[in-house]
Amino acid sequence: MSIETLQPAETNNKPAQETREPKKEDDKSGDEYERKDQDPPLEIGEHYLVKRGEDSWHPAEIIQRRYNKALGLYEYYVHYEGFNRRLDEWVSKEKILSTQVNINETHFSKGEKVSSLDLLLEQSDRKITRNQKRKHDEINHVQKTYAEMDPTTAALEKEHEAITKVKYIDKIQMGKYEMDTWYFSPYPEEYGKVSKLWICEYCLKYMRMEKTYRHHICECSLRQPPGKEIYRKGTLSIYEADGKEHKIYAQNLCLIAKLFLDHKTLYFDVEPFLFYILCEIDKAGAHVVGYFSKEKESPDGNNVACILTLPPFQRKGYGKLLIAFSYELSKLEHAVGSPEKPLSDLGKLSYRSYWSWVLLEILRDFRGSLSIRDLSHMTSITQSDIVSTLQTMNMVKYWKGQHVICVTPKLVEEHIKSAQFKKPRLTVDVSAIRWSPAHRKTFPKTNKK
Ligand SMILES: [Zn+2]
Repeated sequence: MSIETLQPAETNNKPAQETREPKKEDDKSGDEYERKDQDPPLEIGEHYLVKRGEDSWHPAEIIQRRYNKALGLYEYYVHYEGFNRRLDEWVSKEKILSTQVNINETHFSKGEKVSSLDLLLEQSDRKITRNQKRKHDEINHVQKTYAEMDPTTAALEKEHEAITKVKYIDKIQMGKYEMDTWYFSPYPEEYGKVSKLWICEYCLKYMRMEKTYRHHICECSLRQPPGKEIYRKGTLSIYEADGKEHKIYAQNLCLIAKLFLDHKTLYFDVEPFLFYILCEIDKAGAHVVGYFSKEKESPDGNNVACILTLPPFQRKGYGKLLIAFSYELSKLEHAVGSPEKPLSDLGKLSYRSYWSWVLLEILRDFRGSLSIRDLSHMTSITQSDIVSTLQTMNMVKYWKGQHVICVTPKLVEEHIKSAQFKKPRLTVDVSAIRWSPAHRKTFPKTNKK
């Protein structure tokens, strides 16, 4: 389906033009008082040294530029060579060292540690050898070049890079929270180019203007996610929404999620998924704090496709609550499951922590012998996730062709007391789940509308 049909077009005026470059006429008119920057703007695609943070200069590519009318200056969207695109940012000219860097013909010094500034200052004629480059890349955590990747990875990375180039949307307002965004998200053209999007926290409709948003929140009748409330404990609720029945809501949720996740490919094909939306409830309504999606039928045995806690709600235990809930659903289905890969860095940490906690609790309380299979049946965690978790805690041995749990009560106790082991702040109350696999199967699978 085309992106434009996501939601009806706004019936409002044009958005503010603050991110656009000035028209040609502006340049030649007597605007010396307005334009503080008298030099011609820097070109897109060129490489410069750009100051990152307080005191470090890095080679960076100019990916886009915009004219900031309020400041009377051009701003540049830069990508630091070899760094995660999450660090791409808008900077002013004063952070850019105007001497251009020719990345392809950069010369390296003989030194072991090649600082970025050396790249510019070193005037030696010696060309870089592959080995030196590898050394430099290792030291500076440079990502592999396409030539060094296998063809599939290279193709995926290229596609990923192409669509994640410029993050125009810097902020979103959702309910009472203004959030800084982390990554590009493929909002339709006219929305994707504004620096701030206004999002209704109930129906997730996105708007370019505050005025439209204020009007909408008075009109919008929703006060909770669509679908069925399948969990309620205290002020927390979880709703299950079918991507086929609530397509626009699900698509809007995915677009928001992409703002905070680097690798995520699903935005519009939401029909094969169920969405589990965690909310904080108060008098005003149910406020989304995070969600996970799950394939209705997963050939790879994934019980989570995508999982996210919105930034204002991170570090409060919601991520792990969502993970725990996904495993409770798998237990009810009598299935084992694992999250879809790749996981984000935050996702990896949360899963590792959840798995360790679940396994340590069992190992502490259980008397008798346990196999990895037993643990998997008890927890719905896959055997390979169990093995890798036990390996990090030094609790598994490879014996006669298979992994065997190898623990003493003392070792378990040490891990439980260690800083790594954190009891989750929030746990799932299984008796508060109103869900059964049968309930899910009542949704027709291939019913054409
Ligand atoms: Zn709304």
